[in-house]
Amino acid sequence: MCGIVGYVGYRDALGVVVDALRRMEYRGYDSAGVAILDGNGALAVERKAGRLANLEAELGEAGTERFAGSTGMGHTRWATHGAPTDRNAHPHRDISGKLAVVHNGIIENFAPLRRELEEAGVELLSDTDTEVAVHLVSRAYADGPTAGEFTASVHAVLQRLEGAFTLVFTHADHPGTIVAARRSTPLVVGVGEGEMFIASDVTAFIEHTREAVELGQNQAVVITAEGYRVTDFAGNTEGVHSRPFTIDWDLAAAEKGGHDYFMLKEIEEQPTAVADTLLGHFVIDEKGGRIVLDEQRLADQELREFDKVFVVACGSSYHSGLLAKYAIEHWTRVPVEVELASEFRYRDPVLDRSTLVVAISQSGETADTLEAVRHAKEQKARVLAICNTNGAQIPRESDAVIYTRTGPEIGVASTKAFLAQVAANYLVGLALAQARGTKYPDEVAREFAELESMPKLISRVLETAPQVRAIARELAHVPTVLFLGRHVGYPVALEGALKLKELAYLHAEGFAAGELKHGPIALIEQGLPVIIVMPSPKGRAVLHSKLLSNIREIQARGARTIVIAEEGDDTVRPFADDLIEIPAAPTLYQPLLSTVPLQIFAAEVAQALGYDVDKPRNLAKSVTVE
Ligand code: GLU
Repeated sequence: MCGIVGYVGYRDALGVVVDALRRMEYRGYDSAGVAILDGNGALAVERKAGRLANLEAELGEAGTERFAGSTGMGHTRWATHGAPTDRNAHPHRDISGKLAVVHNGIIENFAPLRRELEEAGVELLSDTDTEVAVHLVSRAYADGPTAGEFTASVHAVLQRLEGAFTLVFTHADHPGTIVAARRSTPLVVGVGEGEMFIASDVTAFIEHTREAVELGQNQAVVITAEGYRVTDFAGNTEGVHSRPFTIDWDLAAAEKGGHDYFMLKEIEEQPTAVADTLLGHFVIDEKGGRIVLDEQRLADQELREFDKVFVVACGSSYHSGLLAKYAIEHWTRVPVEVELASEFRYRDPVLDRSTLVVAISQSGETADTLEAVRHAKEQKARVLAICNTNGAQIPRESDAVIYTRTGPEIGVASTKAFLAQVAANYLVGLALAQARGTKYPDEVAREFAELESMPKLISRVLETAPQVRAIARELAHVPTVLFLGRHVGYPVALEGALKLKELAYLHAEGFAAGELKHGPIALIEQGLPVIIVMPSPKGRAVLHSKLLSNIREIQARGARTIVIAEEGDDTVRPFADDLIEIPAAPTLYQPLLSTVPLQIFAAEVAQALGYDVDKPRNLAKSVTVE
């Protein structure tokens, strides 16, 4: 997730590009960079780690003369491959310095492509996956069937790339032309008069034009000041459909994708967040394929020899950790304990070099989790971090890392980061199962395929939003809401309750349904809303029938039951005052679906009560004090 912009026209390209980057900075702020073509065959590039302000300071010093031109592009990076440094900042250039690229996404097959380039004697200057693209295009342009043809050279390379990418190229010998393409990451064209824009999102050009064209999957586009031409990756126009539209939002709404709050947009981004987190983690090899981590400074031998796993985290990350326990124990038969980071380090846990500590933190700098990591390392335990921020302190101090690739999460209450953490936790489980041989390679491949099918199902759950919102509006003024679940539905219930507390300031509690009769059932009274996360009837039958009995028990005592259940689960219908149906999924994966209506519910109650959904009172996004 990053912000990309390209401009061809009559204005000062640097000004247009920097303004656009400022508007898209919420998409990534690991580094920023620009490339401007001056029309005399010179390409001026500046790039700088950190926020856009750092780049602007650098540009201020460099003086704008070198950057005078009306063709240009820019990038705000959200690092996935390689630390957030100057060297890894985009744009990346080829050896001639005439060709530049900016990229959003992940080129999954960058490793073999990198090898191919190195064997051909190309020196790569960054650690990014992106850089291979610029050298490959440069070589296609230098030699062979597409020699001297800028657009055709780009097309030739696009067909070799795997993964998700928006790529934008400029070439000093082709001023006034930008070539771009997309697969699974966004790209829109802004159509002006005598000028054209391309960008990750319409905020980049909304002040100049409201006419836009959304590119479809696997499409490429060439823009000049006069127009644009959309093709497939082979350069054909036949059967290639893009979608022209007029932007009817103002700038503030556009940044939030037309929503009132970032969090609502982030809820909608969850299919992409999960898909991006999975990208590149299953690599086909001679044995059929295997799970790989983003960073691994642990020997495979160590992965095999752990005899205990501790998951440490806070808040929603802790709830994702509770889910990790079900998956890791089930798949690996290694005992897993899940603990709040703030409790873990003060209670002298038993740790040694055969303990794996999985530390989960969206920001990668949560103080309690960081201190827990340090404590674990002092005791010689190994640490695997699950974080959303490349290069943050926790991943730096860990022995292995999986990044949740959701892009920045602006809403204080975690949504897309939570779902991505769940996916990442499952990757940890599969990586351990594979190393220890508790799952055969084909079983690991099947589980991974199951995970990969989740983004589509999450999109379908998002369609329940109108129904969930209507229920939320009705219940906005109740004093208490309870949440019930069993097995993996229990952490989901806890997460649902936490969302409601933090966003709507309501009393909300999540319970393991089996605990009801040990106390909480005393809370049930006429009209009390209880949200129940129903397990799949196709999973463990006993779980389903037990929860069904629990619903009966509370309904008999007057509770208003709001049931989240699998489509076609008719057994539950008579006991549900409201029934929210989600697609069928294997038990372990259901939380990736059942959490979503709970997020929508909490956000809607908060809105109905007039609260700021992005910035709940008393809270901060990353908790860097203990
Ligand atoms: N994968 C690329 C990198 O790490 C692009 C990341 C982005 O989308 O900003 O540099």
